[in-house]
Amino acid sequence: VIANKGGKIDPGDGPGEILLHEMVHALRMLSGVFSDPNFTANPHMDDVEEFYAITVQDVYRSERGFLQLRRDHWGHQALSASLSGSNAYYEEYKDPIDKWFETQKAFCLELASVRAKFNPFHAAVLAKNPEPTPMAHR
Ligand SMILES: [Zn+2]
Repeated sequence: VIANKGGKIDPGDGPGEILLHEMVHALRMLSGVFSDPNFTANPHMDDVEEFYAITVQDVYRSERGFLQLRRDHWGHQALSASLSGSNAYYEEYKDPIDKWFETQKAFCLELASVRAKFNPFHAAVLAKNPEPTPMAHR
């Protein structure tokens, strides 16, 4: 049963967002790259796996047209405006995002190709490759 919230879906709380979040966990577990270290960049993410799942959720949420994104793993509050830009978010979390590219490059490149206002994976590709990306040549 989907609760009626008068059409409002809090950041990270839509059924599709929740399913996608869990699928990111499952993908990383099945791929043998699931890890559970502390996430010192933001303790409210709890660990790096929650950070990854929330970041993918937010790309999906943005693709659907939402402007308010999920801030962290401690609830469903909105990400600050200063971090809601793809480049700002990538710069803030460059190390864990780059690490994901190193371990699951094909997956991250697919994410980078998603046309969404918020897409730090796309920002990462542009930062690493100021020339036209391979995707532009498809
Ligand atoms: Zn989770």
